[in-house]
Amino acid sequence: MTDTILVTGGAGYIGAHACKALKAAGFTPVTYDNLSTGWQDAVKFGPFEQGDLLDRARLDEVFAKHKPAAVMHFAALSQVGESMQDPGRYWRENVMGALNLIEATVAADCRHFVFSSTCATYGDKDEVTLTEDTPQEPINAYGGSKLAIEGILRDFSARHDLEAVIFRYFNVAGADPEAEVGEFHQPETHLIPLMLDAIDGKRPALTIYGTDYATPDGTCIRDYVHVMDLVDAHVLGLTWLRQGKGGQVFNLGTGSGFSVREVVEASRSVTNREVPMTEGARRPGDCTKLVSGSARAAEDLGWSPKRSTLSEMIADAWRWHQGPGFTR
Ligand code: UDP
Repeated sequence: MTDTILVTGGAGYIGAHACKALKAAGFTPVTYDNLSTGWQDAVKFGPFEQGDLLDRARLDEVFAKHKPAAVMHFAALSQVGESMQDPGRYWRENVMGALNLIEATVAADCRHFVFSSTCATYGDKDEVTLTEDTPQEPINAYGGSKLAIEGILRDFSARHDLEAVIFRYFNVAGADPEAEVGEFHQPETHLIPLMLDAIDGKRPALTIYGTDYATPDGTCIRDYVHVMDLVDAHVLGLTWLRQGKGGQVFNLGTGSGFSVREVVEASRSVTNREVPMTEGARRPGDCTKLVSGSARAAEDLGWSPKRSTLSEMIADAWRWHQGPGFTR
């Protein structure tokens, strides 16, 4: 019998790709998702259990039914802009939801927990690259909520028989190259899918949020990592825990930063189409530059990004974008 992994948010973008990777690695991923932003038809690689993180009785029921060997916690609200508009929702759903899940995990004697955190916990720093030891000073409620969950995991690991691998993601992009799953948010707020929409005529234009940042071309710099590389790291993190190596924090990025204008140029080149765009104001909460130092994931987990060039990420996203799976 294969081991079961409880995947919260398995109907969402990253969670669905993680389910595919887990299945390929010989696990049974059980998706727990309230479908507030996820899609049931993205649950293709294991059982589906609909439920909310704030519903402790439902969580206990699912733990009792599936007896997961570990939890991978993806389910969360994840938009920086929205988190500035409605911080209460981020603290309630992300932090209280995670606390409920962590308590249910401990109560079920499940010892291994893999958590999706974010580079947004670092805040706006001048460092060239952000390492896991860079002080965390988030400047938006999204990053604040994820930092709080890291604290809960630290305290629960100290008190209980629980070990957590925390991944701080940089900007996740791309799609399953086989286009079984991909990125589909409603509403969409992320740069690459919005740009592909503009290229495709589904939106009039991409708006560049701010051209007066202290960067070479005035637009924000981000470190983009392919979703398939990211979920591979999760399987490695799970193995790390199962080998008894203990809790750890890992950045997941490539170490290379690209400006919004550079991403626009790469998209033009990959799709061979013009990108309709306008220049707009800064988006509140955006950091100037977020670039990862990911040496620890390479050294400890043996992780190396394989598809994370801008052109591959955009090509895979474009294939998904144009395929039948994209329409709902
Ligand atoms: N961005 C932009 N226009 C958009 C969406 C995003 O210029 O319509 C910029 C945003 O300011 C940031 C980068 O693209 O610098 C990546 O934003 P995204 O929302 O994809 O990810 P985030 O970095 O907020 O997690």
